[in-house]
Amino acid sequence: MVDVPVGPACSGEGKTFYLETFGCQMNVHDSEKVAGVLMARGYRPVDSHDGADIVLYNTCSIREKAAQKVFSRLGAFRKARNAERKIIGVLGCVAQQEGERFFERAPQVSLVCGSASYPRLPDLLAQIESGNRRVKGLDLDTEDCFETEFTRRDNRFRAYLTIIEGCDQRCAFCVVPMTRGPERSRSGLKIISECRRLVDAGYTEIQILGQIVNAWRDPSPAGWSFAELLSRIADVPGVRRVRFTTSHPRFFTPDIVQAIDSHPALCDQIHLPVQSGSTEILARMLRGYSREEYLEKIHCIRKARRVISLSTDIIAGFCGETAKDFEQTLSLLAEVEYDQVFAFKFSPRPNTVALGFADTVPEEEKARRLAELQEAQRRIQVRRNQALLGQRFEVLVEGYQHRLGQAVGRTTSNRVLNFPGEPVEIGCYRQVTVTSAGPHSLVGDRAESGH
Ligand code: SAM
Repeated sequence: MVDVPVGPACSGEGKTFYLETFGCQMNVHDSEKVAGVLMARGYRPVDSHDGADIVLYNTCSIREKAAQKVFSRLGAFRKARNAERKIIGVLGCVAQQEGERFFERAPQVSLVCGSASYPRLPDLLAQIESGNRRVKGLDLDTEDCFETEFTRRDNRFRAYLTIIEGCDQRCAFCVVPMTRGPERSRSGLKIISECRRLVDAGYTEIQILGQIVNAWRDPSPAGWSFAELLSRIADVPGVRRVRFTTSHPRFFTPDIVQAIDSHPALCDQIHLPVQSGSTEILARMLRGYSREEYLEKIHCIRKARRVISLSTDIIAGFCGETAKDFEQTLSLLAEVEYDQVFAFKFSPRPNTVALGFADTVPEEEKARRLAELQEAQRRIQVRRNQALLGQRFEVLVEGYQHRLGQAVGRTTSNRVLNFPGEPVEIGCYRQVTVTSAGPHSLVGDRAESGH
C-alpha cells in the first residue's frame, strides 16, 4: 500500500471508512481509487464496519447471486452496533442498476453511485459531509476515464491500470453496458506516463484492465493500436510483467500475438471468453463470431513462438441451449484444451436482450451442465499440469502460506506454483522447478536463487 498524501480539503479528518468489494478486478481497482479519494480527504480505512463512520459496498450485478449479496449485507448490517449513526453508500454496478430505487428499498443508504460517476466522488462526499442524506451519482455519459490523484494500492508489486471504461457491445446476456456506460479509452501517452510512475513506485507487474480491453483505441493523434500499446508498456524500463484482461474475440487480432512473441515482458497468457461452443447459441448471445471464427483465433495463438496459456469464460444453460449445443461446448473444451475455465450458470439480468427470450433450461439442468463442464475441464487441467513436471519457471512470489511453509508463486502463464520459501521473498522473482501437479496449482523446488 502506498502512502496517500492528504489533500487540501481534509474534511474527513479523524473519520473512518470501511469499503467492501464484490466482483471483478475492475471493481477491485475502482475500490483502490475510491479509497484513495477518501484518504486524500483525511478519512482513515478500517477493517470492519463496526468502527467505521462510512460504510461503502462496491457491488457487482453480473449475475443475480452477486447482486443479492449487497442486499443481504445491508439486511445484516441494520442490526449492527451504532448502525443508525453510520453513513452507508452503495457503489458500482448494482448502484447504477437500481439507481434512486435504492433509497426506497434500503432507506439506511445515503449514497448511490455508479462507476461512471466516480470522478464526481469528491463532490458527492462533500454533499454527504454537509448533511445531505440522499446523494446520488448516476450519470453514464461522463467523458473522462476515472483518473484520481491518489490511488490506494492494495498490492505492493502488481498494479492495476484501467485503459478503457464501459462497453459498447450488446451481448444478449450482459448487464455491463447498462451499468458501466459507453466505451471511453484513455490516451496512450497518459497510460505510458502512469506505467512509468508505477515502476518508480516499485511495481514490476502491470495488469491492464478494461471490460473489453482490446477494444481500446488511442483517442489521441498518435492513434496507437492495442497491440502497439502493449508493446510500449512492455518497453517501459523496469516493467517485468504485463497482463491484460478481458479480451473479446471480435477484437482479437494477430498483431496481439506478434506483440507477445516479440516482448518477453508480455505474459504468455490470454483470457479469451468464448461463452459457448455452439454457433447458434453464439448468434443468440450476439457475440459477433462463430465457433469456427473463434477457433481461428485460437489457432493463431497456438502458432505463436512462445507457448501461450489460454483461459476462457463459459455460460451454461443460456436461453435455447439444447443438449446438442451443450455437447458442442464440451467438444470445444476438448479441442482447445484451456488451462483454466471460468464457468457460470446463465442468470437472466435486467434490461438485457436475453430477458426477452424464454429462459428454457431449468435450473437443475443448468447446474448439471455446469458440473459436467467443470469435471471435463478438471481432467484437462490435471493432464496439462502433469505435463509440466520437471520444467523450470520464473515465478513472482505473491504470498506465503505459513501452515505449509510455502511461498506462493505465479508463473507468467498465470499458474500458481508454490515452493518452500520465506515470507520476505514476497514481491521477488524466483526460479522454480515443478515437482508435483494438481488440477489447480503446482508445487516445486527452488532451482536457484532469484534475482
Ligand atoms: N466483458 C467481458 C466479455 O464480454 O467477454 C466479460 C466480463 S463479465 C464480468 C465475466 C463473465 O461473466 C462473462 O465473460 C460471462 O461468462 C459471465 N456472465 C456475464 N453475464 C452473465 C449472465 N447473465 N449469466 C451468467 N454469466 C454471465
